[in-house]
Amino acid sequence: MSAAAQDFLRRAAEKSADLLHRQTIRRGIDSYDAAVGRGRSRFSDWQAARERAFRIKQEAVSHLDQYLLRFEQNIQARGGHVFWAADAAEARNYVLDLAQRKQVKRIVKSKSMVTEEIHLNETLEKSGLEVWETDLGEYIVQLRNEPPYHIVTPAMHLTRTQIADLFQQKIGGVTSDDPPGLVAIARRKLRQAFFSADMGISGANFLVADAGMVALNTNEGNGRLCTTLPRIHVVMAGIEKVIPRLQDLATLWPVLATSGTGQHLTSYCTLIGGRRAAGEVDGPEEFHVVLLDNGRSELLADPEQREVLHCIRCGACLNACPIFRNVGGHAYGTTYQGPIGSVLTPHLRGLEFSHLSFASSLCGACTETCPVKINLHHHLLENRRDAIAAGARPWTERMAFRVWRWVMASAARFRFFGWLGKTGLRMVNALGLTGTALDPLRKWSKYRVPPELPAASFRQIWKESYAGK
Ligand code: SF4
Repeated sequence: MSAAAQDFLRRAAEKSADLLHRQTIRRGIDSYDAAVGRGRSRFSDWQAARERAFRIKQEAVSHLDQYLLRFEQNIQARGGHVFWAADAAEARNYVLDLAQRKQVKRIVKSKSMVTEEIHLNETLEKSGLEVWETDLGEYIVQLRNEPPYHIVTPAMHLTRTQIADLFQQKIGGVTSDDPPGLVAIARRKLRQAFFSADMGISGANFLVADAGMVALNTNEGNGRLCTTLPRIHVVMAGIEKVIPRLQDLATLWPVLATSGTGQHLTSYCTLIGGRRAAGEVDGPEEFHVVLLDNGRSELLADPEQREVLHCIRCGACLNACPIFRNVGGHAYGTTYQGPIGSVLTPHLRGLEFSHLSFASSLCGACTETCPVKINLHHHLLENRRDAIAAGARPWTERMAFRVWRWVMASAARFRFFGWLGKTGLRMVNALGLTGTALDPLRKWSKYRVPPELPAASFRQIWKESYAGK
């Protein structure tokens, strides 16, 4: 078993036994579910909207080369710079080099999962730059020195009391755990950073090819401050973020907001075309877009799994997933958590993360909720198949399946092993070994009550009920 798989199992066991943690995220997801229900009801036909969003992303991903080039030409025509980063190192080096050449000291960031994916903050901070996350949830987890817990709600695992304690410890001046008061403290602190930053880094929700615009959605207004106040603005985006036309936002913006937070639209829907133009009073002097590949081209070349690039990072599949609801975001140990993370991460970081495809009940709730109709649970199965073909599973598991196949291939063997298992379980229960060191199912029964075994098996009942009929 890989080290990543062992870490995942350890963290998942800890978190699923942590009732406060489960209660906190359950509360968050319950209010999300209610908001999303209301949000979807505002559409005259939610399924038709999903279908339209799917078609837009399918068209974009099928012609990614053309749309990306069109986007690049439009940005360059307005004096912007576009850098194509093949991997994380190239993207990090470009931003670091730019910051050093331009004598940047302080950077403010709007939420960007791509920068998490390439660990940009660590690189910049190691080189002596000051980096401020300005999305409130991101700011909170940055103060805790933690990665985001969830791709949309990074501090979802924390109660307001925990946040109040954190602010008191790191900033001071906390008088209660009242949310507006806590927001005011963060706001005051972040304002100082906005007004003194030399560089703003943002993500992109969409890159609009025909208009050459970056579409950005936020709820706190921090995105607009990051992208207009500092003298340099850098956009970091995966290549899959491109969409063909400006009018596609009429579908994608409401679909994203509804699935992400249950809103009809996010509070701030911003379109950014480049640096400050002649005669304009605000905006950056320089504008850069970093287009990150980092394994996405390989995914594009895979006709089976290409549609994973349709993802608009709404986070809905995480909230719907029974595994995520129990183990939470940090257990995954990856930038992207939940079903989309389990599908995507083995492609971005290798088969060492193939265990995540097995962390699923395959209930299909993720596929059902995905606003761009990605067949997530089917891709989890494909990843499992690929991991087995590549020998990335433990030998014990491979052996267990061979034995299982041998048992299932014969009615007599199936009967015998069924009897053996039943008798063994009865003995464990009768001797009261459950949960003790002598319990052969100890790991399993640590947090679960073993089921009562029925007096008669299905085969016995069948025989008795239908004997002679
Ligand atoms: S896979 Fe679908 S549901 Fe999950 S984050 Fe992406 S778009 Fe949202």
